[in-house]
Amino acid sequence: MTRAIIHFDADAFFASVEQAADRSLRGKPVVVGGLQRGIVASASYEARRYGIYTPMPVARARRLCPNLIVVPVRFDLYEQFSANIFGLADEITPVVEKQGVDEGYLDLTGTRACLKRDPDQVADKFRRDVKDWLKVTISQGLARTKLLGQIASKLYKPDALTIISPDEARELEFLHPLPVKWLPGIGPTTEKLMQSAGLTRIGQVAEMPLGWLAELLGSAASQVRDFARNVDDRPVDATRPDALSYGHQETFGEDTADIERIDAQLRRLADEAMGRVRADGKQIRTVTVRIRYTDMDEHQGQMSLSEPTDVEVLVYPLVSRILHRIWDRRVRIRMVQVKLSNVYSCFSQLDLFGVMQRQHDLAVACETVRNRFGPRALMRAHDWALRRGDGDER
Ligand SMILES: [Mg+2]
Repeated sequence: MTRAIIHFDADAFFASVEQAADRSLRGKPVVVGGLQRGIVASASYEARRYGIYTPMPVARARRLCPNLIVVPVRFDLYEQFSANIFGLADEITPVVEKQGVDEGYLDLTGTRACLKRDPDQVADKFRRDVKDWLKVTISQGLARTKLLGQIASKLYKPDALTIISPDEARELEFLHPLPVKWLPGIGPTTEKLMQSAGLTRIGQVAEMPLGWLAELLGSAASQVRDFARNVDDRPVDATRPDALSYGHQETFGEDTADIERIDAQLRRLADEAMGRVRADGKQIRTVTVRIRYTDMDEHQGQMSLSEPTDVEVLVYPLVSRILHRIWDRRVRIRMVQVKLSNVYSCFSQLDLFGVMQRQHDLAVACETVRNRFGPRALMRAHDWALRRGDGDER
């Protein structure tokens, strides 16, 4: 059966949600800003006409457009709209993969929705429903693979549905003339590197010998070449039911009431989960801690940061505070879990003054040292605490 996959991506999401929530902002140049660092996090299409883009200092945006409306970020509100969009997606197919607050895949293959309508009609209805019910617009790509769907959804914004017919020749006609930056995993640095080697179009990458590409791209070469050759069998993965999240848990060798040890273990779990967040190029805003008592009773608690991050040190204080709040029985603990959720994919570039970037670089450097020389080559205080305690296998 030919697969039919939709990738959708909300347009100017934060600014659009603000306009949806407040009628007086509609049709006006609006930016969501006022982050700690004063950067435009999202600009409405009306604001973009003045040359305002993300990320740009709010002060500069105001100079470009004197009657600009600047509203502060309200992540709770965006996450609520996100849940509503995914609620509409769930009504179409059970196979929905969330990629972040404002984008995801829907696999329509063999669904009941497609018995009554063609996939393009299903996609069109989804887009209209989101617009009618939530007053925000999404752009969609409908294609046979995730790769083509994702590219198509971002190519013509806003409020667009781009369909790539499931026909090899047509797919290549679409894919091959595009600049290489449209391939997943090709960021600005890799793009420059490829350009300097004479590779500007995806079609050129498809024809390169693998060994040659490997010298340029390292271990990513074969995946990149597969994509360039339109080879993509990745399934839409709906196994993470409520949301995209990063969870890690640990059962103690022996149940414990040593709060320092439990806190240290939770921090280490946060390290591991955040390593995966970074590897995916994402940021998270919400931390959940779950504890299981020796009698199997469970408690959990949750807190959110004021803005998304991919740096573990920023979540340690939350982890400790949640633990102290939820551990209210004088009973030993057998298992602990940390879950990182409310995933964003657009925050790393918003850091004009490089504060977050430096913390990010430090975290990556620590990870590199450990990968190369072993987990004990570089330890945080909580790793040290766990090492003193028994049962640490590191
Ligand atoms: Mg978007």
